[in-house]
Amino acid sequence: MTVDERTLDQVARLVAGGRRNVAFTGAGVSVESGIPDFRSAGGLWERFDPADYATIEAFRRDPAKVWQMYREMGELLDRAEPNAAHRALARLEDLGRLEAIITQNIDNLHQEAGSRRVIEFHGNARRLVCSCGRVESAAEVKRRWAAGEDFPPRCRSCGAVLKPDVVLFGEPVPQEASREAMRLVQHPDVLLAVGTSAVVAPASYLPVVASKTGGTIVEINVERTDLTGTYAAYSLFGPAGEVMPALVERVEGLLERDRSPT
Ligand code: NAD
Repeated sequence: MTVDERTLDQVARLVAGGRRNVAFTGAGVSVESGIPDFRSAGGLWERFDPADYATIEAFRRDPAKVWQMYREMGELLDRAEPNAAHRALARLEDLGRLEAIITQNIDNLHQEAGSRRVIEFHGNARRLVCSCGRVESAAEVKRRWAAGEDFPPRCRSCGAVLKPDVVLFGEPVPQEASREAMRLVQHPDVLLAVGTSAVVAPASYLPVVASKTGGTIVEINVERTDLTGTYAAYSLFGPAGEVMPALVERVEGLLERDRSPT
């Protein structure tokens, strides 16, 4: 971790003093849980180019091909557990210093860490949806595969191929998530942008709106991003699993100090 103590203290004071803090998370927050981001070397995405697999056109053209990737990703997600960054964000909510998490991730790890208010901007791979409106669970489909049922999975009502309930490139963000996220990023005190390259639109507009409406943007990332030196007032460079617990520990210290009798 290359964050200096002074900067961490400054950010902790802002977070402790904020009533409307929001986290905006991306694939980087789950890298330490073993789920590669789009850049990780040797990961899933080296074999399955997102441009070929993660688009709605590709799914419509050849759902079985795209399902090869989702089957593998499903196995990865089943093995993954929340890491220290997910837990620190859940703790921040418990402390009353995080209103919500807007996540671009589809892995459910914030919820598994105990976060209660999670806006799924790009959906959740644990659910599967059909064009007829039926929703099934990925766990149920896995049980059917184990029993030797067909691949790719088909809807029990109409027989169409099911799609993971995730936003593929070329698909719109679910309206409710989009509306809620937009509301949350208007005039926040602090927006913590954790493990996101902040380049995938329209999610990438959220920190911009937060900044333009007076929020302080703090990014936590292992490397520079488009937010660095532009919208981010603070850039804390280091693995989210180290930086986030260090930050939340300081926030907790400040809150305890404020509560203790003088
Ligand atoms: P991205 O792959 O574009 O960027 C990830 C960012 O995380 C990078 O800036 C990287 O430097 C940073 N990072 C990597 N390891 C980190 C760590 N240990 N600590 C802190 N930062 C770290 O991801 P994105 O911005 O989320 O956008 C890509 C899209 O891919 C999103 O829409 C997301 O839905 C999807 N995606 C999701 C998952 C998941 O659900 N876990 C995984 C891969 C991709």
